[in-house]
Amino acid sequence: MKFDRSGVNALMEITSRPELVFVRGQGSWLEDHTGKRYLDFVQGWAVNCLGHCPPEVVKAINEQSARLINPSPAFYNEPSMELAKRLTGASCFDRIFFANSGAEANEGAIKLARKWGRLNRKGAFKIITFDHSFHGRTIATMSASGKPGWDTLFAPQVEGFPKADLNDLDSVRALIDDQTVAIMLEPIQGEAGVIPATREFMQGLRKLADDHGLLLIVDEVQTGMGRTGKLFAYELSGITPDIMTLGKGIGGGVPLAALCAREAVSCFEHGDQGGTYNGNPLMTAAGVAVFDTLTAPGFMDEVNARARQLSEGLLALSAQWGMQGERGEGLLRALMLDRNDGAAIVETARDWMPEGMLLNAPRPNLLRFMPALNVTAGEIDLMLQRLDEVIGKVRAA
Ligand SMILES: *Cc1c(COP(=O)(O)O)cnc(C)c1O
Repeated sequence: MKFDRSGVNALMEITSRPELVFVRGQGSWLEDHTGKRYLDFVQGWAVNCLGHCPPEVVKAINEQSARLINPSPAFYNEPSMELAKRLTGASCFDRIFFANSGAEANEGAIKLARKWGRLNRKGAFKIITFDHSFHGRTIATMSASGKPGWDTLFAPQVEGFPKADLNDLDSVRALIDDQTVAIMLEPIQGEAGVIPATREFMQGLRKLADDHGLLLIVDEVQTGMGRTGKLFAYELSGITPDIMTLGKGIGGGVPLAALCAREAVSCFEHGDQGGTYNGNPLMTAAGVAVFDTLTAPGFMDEVNARARQLSEGLLALSAQWGMQGERGEGLLRALMLDRNDGAAIVETARDWMPEGMLLNAPRPNLLRFMPALNVTAGEIDLMLQRLDEVIGKVRAA
């Protein structure tokens, strides 16, 4: 197949993309229009938790698409109730609202917290969020995000998202006032470069929220659904949040997200929340297939074994090249480089012949790894070995 320039010109130019068209994928491997294969450690941005085209999800989508695609959100459908039961059964939450993207789930969390504030805290509406956080690309979630530059892009912002510093409890305490209703954070900041909130900080936030009558919201769009070696990352710190959002891995690649809340916080009234595609059976059927695979006996043990292998391999690479070590939880990890050649490494790995490799550098001096949760030991070894070769080539140049 030839690269289609007219097709490129018909798309809005929203980011710089390589001149590659991906045509098929299986597990940890992608294939482009020339037939070249790539070992994929990006997986649609931590979305394909079971790799490309996992048979369980393909089967669920095939069967559901032949049965019922969308009766409208004004009616109940089986897959959405099945998935909601599974999520509430496996978490501290009692109620689920399904959405189509992480940003939309976070919008829902913000609305729910504001509604709760109106009912319980005299109209308090401010949600404390964090510098360098990422919560999505709608206007409100961009305002909630602490990405440098986003405070002026598309101004004016949505009001009411004061920013604290991650892992600094005093910086959070200093922002609390009568108008504060919630604290919202990623248990591990993903886009910022895989920066974990410490266990003590998460526990401190829970106590601070309890002392001041605030809600604690965890954005687990990236960390949820097994990514960190637990089904949900909040479990790592032994706390119970009031609201959680899920996205990315929950659909195994299809657009699905969820807003999860404890009963006492589930205060939406009729008309407050909705959406044409929300909770449609086609996507939630995919979600059920993903959930059942992640929670099958032994699955998470394998994730944790692969996570240890990846962590040890990255540490060894770091030592060998004089880098700054590695960090992360489960299969969301980062290699801290000793110089700003992240982009060059990503590009060289992608263009490697005869087989390429897909990596991600969210910062110039850092590589992020978010492979399929069912990545094999052999694939991790291959990635580490090739990464070593790629670094060698980049640094020899
Ligand atoms: C990706 C991401 C989002 C946004 O999800 P979309 O599906 O792209 O809207 C929100 N929060 C976190 C932590 C994310 O990683």
